[in-house]
Amino acid sequence: MKIICIGRNYLAHVKELDNALPTEPMFFMKPETALLPAGKPFLYPDFSKEIHYETELVLRICKTGKAIEEREASEYYDAITVGIDFTARDLQSQCKAKGHPWEIAKAFDDSAPLGEFKKISALRHPDDITFGMKLNGEWVQQGHSRDMIFGFDRIVSQVSRFVTLNEGDCIFTGTPQGVGEVHVGDRLELFMEDDFVFGFDVR
Ligand code: MG
Repeated sequence: MKIICIGRNYLAHVKELDNALPTEPMFFMKPETALLPAGKPFLYPDFSKEIHYETELVLRICKTGKAIEEREASEYYDAITVGIDFTARDLQSQCKAKGHPWEIAKAFDDSAPLGEFKKISALRHPDDITFGMKLNGEWVQQGHSRDMIFGFDRIVSQVSRFVTLNEGDCIFTGTPQGVGEVHVGDRLELFMEDDFVFGFDVR
């Protein structure tokens, strides 16, 4: 099972990090060990002093595909949830400055907490999915899937040009604006279509 993450897919977030606008979907990957087991807290790692949350919609791939055409891409995913793409922003900044890969900043253990998947066909507004995260009871991120620079179909098509997608693979589709730091003692609660999906503590 693979975890694929799209970077820079919401205009306001690209601007808040002062990044360049992508001309096609850009992606990186996390290993399966990045999944945070359900019910477990996120343990603040000792290698970073600046862990950021990024709240994202996450697609689940439902069949194997390679070089998928954009117009057929919707047949290859069937479920969606919310998750956090935890990022060691201090390490990522160092990697960017040196032109190094991002893995130490993105792929570490427990860096991909994920909710339970829901069938996209069961959503109330599949064409504009709202989602968000409350940090210690306060909204810090609220997004709309319609604000994505690249939509789900384009993302699936682009990734599958390079990497064969298999049933069960997950694709984080990018974060809207409002990313920020977590601290020991924080409580994160994630929502999709205003429904609570899951929550966990930072310890
Ligand atoms: Mg992200």
